[in-house]
Amino acid sequence: MAADPDCIFCKIIAGEIPCFRLYEDDATLAFMDINPANDGHVLVIPKEHSADVHAVSADAITATVLTAQKIAAAVQKTLEPDGLNLLQCNGPAAAQSVFHFHMHVLPRKNGDALKMNWGLNPGDMDRIGEIAERIRANL
Ligand code: 5GP
Ligand code: ZN
Repeated sequence: MAADPDCIFCKIIAGEIPCFRLYEDDATLAFMDINPANDGHVLVIPKEHSADVHAVSADAITATVLTAQKIAAAVQKTLEPDGLNLLQCNGPAAAQSVFHFHMHVLPRKNGDALKMNWGLNPGDMDRIGEIAERIRANL
């Protein structure tokens, strides 16, 4: 499967960088975002490297959306958020910071006032790991 040796998400797929892994199949990987905008913030990526929506293959984007739907169900069951955004960013003005196509599964709380360009604030790794374990139990 096509990989970019300089890409941080390709390194996560290869197991060269650790992650809180939730789910994996032949085409996709889902793992916790380490700078969560809210508790339960998950990233879903295709294993095939491509930079963005303009470059991703039809098979890879299809597989990513299907995995995102599966993850959304598990996050909903686990954390019972008031809402969920499925989000995908392209280019600097859209605040894309990692150029390996990915979807955010982002739980929302009533009144959380989250802005779409939320910035990167490091999360508490113990808390992220504990939430990952709870979501995995619902997959
Ligand atoms: P983007 O801003 O490109 O839409 O989203 C990239 C996301 O990747 C950000 O939310 C950021 O927190 C996350 N991220 C960046 N580096 C890492 C990493 O090494 N591990 C994990 N789990 N997430 C990362
Ligand atoms: Zn990559």
